[in-house]
Amino acid sequence: MPQPADTRLSLLRSLRFCAGHRLLGHEGRCAYLHGHNYRVEVEVEAAGGGTEVDAVGRVVDFSLIKRRLLGWLDDHWDHAFILWEEDATALAAVRLAEPTKYFLLPWNPTAENMARYLLEVVAPHVLTDLGVIARRVAVWETEESCAIATRGGDTDEPALDLAAAVIVDSRA
Ligand SMILES: [Zn+2]
Repeated sequence: MPQPADTRLSLLRSLRFCAGHRLLGHEGRCAYLHGHNYRVEVEVEAAGGGTEVDAVGRVVDFSLIKRRLLGWLDDHWDHAFILWEEDATALAAVRLAEPTKYFLLPWNPTAENMARYLLEVVAPHVLTDLGVIARRVAVWETEESCAIATRGGDTDEPALDLAAAVIVDSRA
């Protein structure tokens, strides 16, 4: 019996973290420093695409997606301020606080840009050796609103270098 040629298998994993940010140039209250309980959904598929699965029948084990991506989120975005690297005054404020944790994004930290960063920069670094790629990342800022970044063509190279959180903590 012929197989349908266009079936594609993927996994969707949900991950949560808390972070602060503000949107430089926003017309309303999002210009103030504030935070969200974020939820990220990442959809992954086999690097070979289609219906490729391992010997057990999985695209990849869910626990590996959690360990890699939630591990990265915990280390770099959770309980951090995520700020645009050009946002000089917000950056000065979080640098003044001590202890402090912040992450510099190359773009304004909207849900759209955070989803794009996770899809284009973070996912390729943390998932590649698992034989899977992220097809889509959704960043939920509230229960009602999310932004989605979707992989287009077959670009394999991350567009940007992966940054790290800056943590200043002299309590230890
Ligand atoms: Zn916000």
